[in-house]
Amino acid sequence: MDKLRAKIRDIPDFPKPGILFRDITPLVKDPAALRFTIHQLIHPFVGEDITAVAGMEARGFIFGALAAWELGVGFVPLRKPGKLPYNVQTIDYDLEYGSARLEVHLDALGVGDRVLMVDDLLATGGTARASCSLVESLGAEVAACAFVVELDALEGRQALHGRRVHSLLHY
Ligand code: IMP
Repeated sequence: MDKLRAKIRDIPDFPKPGILFRDITPLVKDPAALRFTIHQLIHPFVGEDITAVAGMEARGFIFGALAAWELGVGFVPLRKPGKLPYNVQTIDYDLEYGSARLEVHLDALGVGDRVLMVDDLLATGGTARASCSLVESLGAEVAACAFVVELDALEGRQALHGRRVHSLLHY
């Protein structure tokens, strides 16, 4: 894990002054680190009846699609507004400043699906909480949420109200 941590680059004052951004691009560039990350992300869920992985735009697509590949299931993108071409289900949620929206294709998931949610980073938990609600609004079950990085001080885990959360690195 220390090798993985060394591949996360800290960028001060991005995207705004006062924010320390954890940049995962050095990690995904490194083949060994990327492979290790995906294996660790899916490890607790191998052998469970996960039927799909859902990933949050945009960095959740990188880890989520690879996790789906390794689990042998399909990948469902949760996208920012206006990007998906077919009929969508939508959820609006609050950010620290302002609000945001995510969308999913109406026929992407349904009753009987057990979904692993994947994103690069858990901060306040607002994105993940909304994503879980979005998936559940289609009738699917959220099996767990998996993140490469969790920012403990922002208490995103509490925002997920007792859902199963798996994170590789804590800051
Ligand atoms: P939350 O909704 O506050 O938990 O923020 C998590 C979302 O913001 C995730 O989709 C992350 O990709 C993104 N995010 C927030 N902070 C960072 C960061 O430091 N590095 C990378 N992504 C971040």
